[in-house]
Amino acid sequence: MISLPEIKDILNNNDPAFLEGLARKSRTLTQQYFGRAVSLYAPLYLSNYCSSHCTYCGFQSKNRIARVRLTPEQMQSEMKAVAETGIESILLLTGESYEATPLSYLKEASTIAKQYFSSISMEVHPMGTEEYRELFLSGVDGITVYQETYDRGRYKEVHLSGKKSDYDYRRDTPQRAARAGMRHISLGVLLGLSDTVGDLLALYGHLRWMEKHFPGVEYSLSFPRLRKIKGRAFAICNVSDLDFIKILCLTRILFPRVGLNLSTRETSALRGHALELGITRISAGSNTSVGGYHLKSAGEQEPQFDIEDQRSVEEIVEYLKSKDFDPVLTDWRRIENSV
Ligand code: SF4
Repeated sequence: MISLPEIKDILNNNDPAFLEGLARKSRTLTQQYFGRAVSLYAPLYLSNYCSSHCTYCGFQSKNRIARVRLTPEQMQSEMKAVAETGIESILLLTGESYEATPLSYLKEASTIAKQYFSSISMEVHPMGTEEYRELFLSGVDGITVYQETYDRGRYKEVHLSGKKSDYDYRRDTPQRAARAGMRHISLGVLLGLSDTVGDLLALYGHLRWMEKHFPGVEYSLSFPRLRKIKGRAFAICNVSDLDFIKILCLTRILFPRVGLNLSTRETSALRGHALELGITRISAGSNTSVGGYHLKSAGEQEPQFDIEDQRSVEEIVEYLKSKDFDPVLTDWRRIENSV
């Protein structure tokens, strides 16, 4: 396993020959294991109710925004709008409210989503193994849960209240989801929140531990960078584009088979560059507001964060083809999840 000083050296080394070697190795490994395939997915926000207070998030409980939770009929129209763009893999998200979006609500969302999508993942409040089991049986295949930062002190500073302030419960969430049978688990850190080197080392260690104890799960990693919310900066992300690319390359070299996700938080130019080096899964045509695809006009929306890459799914598919990538909308035919 890589050490802290080694990661630091890589992030501090801007020698062109070194950078070229890093990029070449990452690109070669990506092509070796993934070819030119790039999977596409879209996020769909079900609710922005949240009982936690995370200082960097527009949905936090103290923020005076209109709180919305989609009804089953509204879920249908939002999901239909996304499915009509060609997307077949959906990531359903909520704020973290155990009261507003309980397990029964999430199961209902999954049941509806099965009509439109072949793969369903969720990024919702952390739960116990039995609850994840119920979600799995209702059709959910994957769970996304980022630790945000592995630095306990910093974690406490930015997670002021609510269940999310329980560091250990959150850190152990991926293993509870894996025990419940989830097929995909996505881990990550929010870059810019804390010391990048320390967070990378801890994230890599966490993933190695998961791979060792739950080898049947398909893992992916994400490195979202802090973003403004409706133009306001809650914190400044100090991770430059160059550092970000180095992080992707380093991660690919350490984990050749792991999926690397990249969201529309990043610009189309950076996404294009990152795709050549190691990214294997991207969101497309995204909206980060509840009801943003069909129900609400742009002026009415309350996004969780601002989007940089505004291209439609169709435009992204065309772009990928023009660059000789194989856009993959689904590699999976829906089957009933069972025990
Ligand atoms: S990051 Fe999640 S838990 Fe924290 S305030 Fe935002 S929605 Fe709530």
